[in-house]
Amino acid sequence: MSYQVDERGYYGEFGGAFIPEMLYPNVEELRRNYLDIINSDDFQAEFHHLLRDYVGRPSPLYFCERLSEKYQARIYLKREDLNHTGAHKVNNTIGQILLARKLGKQKIIAETGAGQHGVATATVCALMGMECKVFMGEVDIERQKPNVERMKILGAEVIPASSGSRTLKDATNEAMRYWINHPTDTHYIIGSVVGPHPYPDMVARFQSVISEEMKLQLKEKTGSPNPDAVLACVGGGSNAIGSFYHYLDELDVRLIAVEAGGMGVNSGKSAATTQLGGMGILHGSKTLLMQTEDGQVTEPYSISAGLDYPGIGPQHAHLKSSGRVEYIDATDEEAMTAGIELSKLEGIIPAIESAHALVALSKLKFAKEDVVVVNMSGRGDKDLETYIKWGKY
Ligand SMILES: *Cc1c(COP(=O)(O)O)cnc(C)c1O
Repeated sequence: MSYQVDERGYYGEFGGAFIPEMLYPNVEELRRNYLDIINSDDFQAEFHHLLRDYVGRPSPLYFCERLSEKYQARIYLKREDLNHTGAHKVNNTIGQILLARKLGKQKIIAETGAGQHGVATATVCALMGMECKVFMGEVDIERQKPNVERMKILGAEVIPASSGSRTLKDATNEAMRYWINHPTDTHYIIGSVVGPHPYPDMVARFQSVISEEMKLQLKEKTGSPNPDAVLACVGGGSNAIGSFYHYLDELDVRLIAVEAGGMGVNSGKSAATTQLGGMGILHGSKTLLMQTEDGQVTEPYSISAGLDYPGIGPQHAHLKSSGRVEYIDATDEEAMTAGIELSKLEGIIPAIESAHALVALSKLKFAKEDVVVVNMSGRGDKDLETYIKWGKY
């Protein structure tokens, strides 16, 4: 069983590139070139130089004494929250902007929901002196003001998406439309392991640095590169793929992905795609997505904006259907409680997305000597207002 993409761009029955004909030249240019560029020595040297000196990698692997005591297992956090810009997303935007430059592109576009990917993209555009346009739903612009201003300070133009529900999927549609009309000078930086092939594979490769470092750090700290389990939250699925990547073929490592249950999986207000979704096509790939009986995409819901996505990357759809990764869910209530618990026990306020991954500690059974790594995809600064509104701390 292979868990990686095949040469047709598929993961089992999921994946592919379902795109309008007018987008074909852009996506085909990427597909033909991405592996040669990414694997070249000078690309790798520059990528790793920026990850080290600009992002601050390797991110620490931190042993949580008090959390371990509470859950009776040896718990480590992979500290992606300590990266520049506060989350794992910058690993991907650095990789993609270097690739865009090698392809001779001068301009960058991106979509964003909560604004985290928009900020990570605006950041690397400032770094490289490239023009940056970020598409964002009007509703999200209204509810994510600080990130909108951050992007503007960094020199990006934020373009409101006013169609449909005026949220992330509409921003994605508008970015694709813009790309069709500007195929030669513009690269589209997608923010997760979603979209047409080769995006899911390309983003996974950039994020795989997370599990590459985990292996070295665990070897040093525990004597073995392999933990008993790795836990991560899933929106589109990029931080989870990054932290699972080098363990996919190591079947002794349990891999657990946590989706946003929202108000409860069957409440009608949820983003638990693998439980509620069926096969369909979303943003250019065949995958699992939440849809009505006649195939209209349904509005997802989660207290955490980063997990509020109606689909999941095609590699995850395959990992779910093959049974390699276990998918569970955490409700808003469970995630907020876990986030506040981590703050009090370890002095680390997590992003609410990352707090979903922590919920798995109480839902699964581990032995006392088990080594468990939780990927802390981001920090909680951006979520302060949500924590304050929640109030129970
Ligand atoms: C965007 C985001 C996520 C969700 O995206 P994935 O592609 O599923 O990783 C999770 N955590 C944080 C902190 C984010 O900013």
